[in-house]
Amino acid sequence: MNSTSELGLYINGNWRRGEGRDNHKVINPATGAAIADLPLATPADLDEALEATARGFAHWRTVDVNERAAILHKVAGLIRERAEDIAVLLTTEQGKPLAEARTEVLSCASQFDYFAEEAKRSYGRVLVRPTGQRALVLKQPVGPVAAFSPWNFPVNLMCKKMAAALAAGCSIIAKPPEETPFCTSAIMQCVIDGGVPGAVAQLVYGVPDMVSRHLIASPVIRKVSFTGSVPVGKHLLKLAADGVKRTTMELGGHAPVLVFDDCDLEKAIKLSSTQKFRNAGQVCISPTRFYVQEGIYDRFVAGFAEATKKVQVGNGLDDGTIMGPLANDRRPPAIERLVRDATDKGAKLLTGGERGDGGYFYQPTVLADVPMTADIMTDEPFGPVALIRPFKDFDEAITQANRLPFGLAAYAFTENARQANLVADALDTGMVGLNSFVISMPDAPFGGVKESGFGSEGGPEGLDSYYVTKAVHQY
Ligand code: NAD
Repeated sequence: MNSTSELGLYINGNWRRGEGRDNHKVINPATGAAIADLPLATPADLDEALEATARGFAHWRTVDVNERAAILHKVAGLIRERAEDIAVLLTTEQGKPLAEARTEVLSCASQFDYFAEEAKRSYGRVLVRPTGQRALVLKQPVGPVAAFSPWNFPVNLMCKKMAAALAAGCSIIAKPPEETPFCTSAIMQCVIDGGVPGAVAQLVYGVPDMVSRHLIASPVIRKVSFTGSVPVGKHLLKLAADGVKRTTMELGGHAPVLVFDDCDLEKAIKLSSTQKFRNAGQVCISPTRFYVQEGIYDRFVAGFAEATKKVQVGNGLDDGTIMGPLANDRRPPAIERLVRDATDKGAKLLTGGERGDGGYFYQPTVLADVPMTADIMTDEPFGPVALIRPFKDFDEAITQANRLPFGLAAYAFTENARQANLVADALDTGMVGLNSFVISMPDAPFGGVKESGFGSEGGPEGLDSYYVTKAVHQY
């Protein structure tokens, strides 16, 4: 993983290597060392990709859905075959422990398999008129897609977009993050080797603002899919509005967890303290604001802090590592600022609160009695920090949970089935986990409400976002 020549852009069926292009330094976040130079797309590269994607779409939309599905299944098989190698690349450039990287890579294969099959069942409707006439409602692929995905789940989030778009018959230009090009390029090689034509799926890296402006401004692009922060999502929405383009926006979150007196406390502590530190908390659905009912508050806080002290931090490639470094040099100072602000305002620091040595490490951190005035109660920390506060009753818990402009994921722990249903109904989010944090799978819609975005990825809803409908009236 140290050869510049390994990295490139995949445009119009060819890998383009350095060849005088500007570069981005790829860093191993566990050491801070530069491991490669990534060539960045020029406007001419993007123009070539746009011309190819228009051609690719004209072809791919006419390929029988069963043939498309067979190709996508082949891609899934190749990802499974190469999963171990791709997982090592992912850990080396992103930081997450190898076990998490393996799970992420395998989830990509599941997405290709799922959307391959689901697209076969994308039927339209027939409207039967008493006069013997018929109207048909057809689903057709929306057109060439520009897809922007972030560095926290670099392969999973790229594949969510790519698998659904390709299954629906769209062509796609993917721009995964510049921080993690080895793993995304390795997935792209599976897409190529599986038989997706070169003009149909393309891969570019570049200066994000230049690439997104250039692609979205082109009349060729008919759909924009973005996963990332709320401010960037709003910016891309404005760009897309100029061309009245379809968009799917999966933006930030600040997930509340409501822990009721009647929960299985041991389970709530175990799952919470495990999930909080998955991918070092750099997860849009990461459990973050723990609201715990007064009767069990002290026990929950003590148990959570104890469990957190046992989380082993280290290089994701080392055996026994439970939490790796943060993914890039922007995260440690951002977390440090938020934690300092909270403790200055009176939050109790139970464990963590410091950076680690070398690389971009930050200790797993638990803050209790966090004042509402702390910035971290409002700003998404996107890091390994748990915030714990007590609540009295159901109404207070729901008010607190729904307080922010975010509405992505929320969780609740209660053994009372009726209460669980009432909580699920009242939470103003796109996803709810009851007694579990497992809410992302290929067949379920994944997405938020309010400023967390709109549209779904995953499930039939995710596939639908790559179709337009056409009504054909026969007389
Ligand atoms: P950022 O807001 O600059 O970037 C977020 C993502 O958007 C990155 O992947 C980046 O490459 C991309 N991006 C930035 N500007 C873009 C543009 N003009 N056009 C297209 N893509 C663009 O910040 P960051 O430091 O990378 O991440 C910080 C915050 O972003 C986090 O605190 C978190 O809130 C959010 N984030 C969310 C997710 C998610 O899964 N929803 C993933 C990564 C980051």
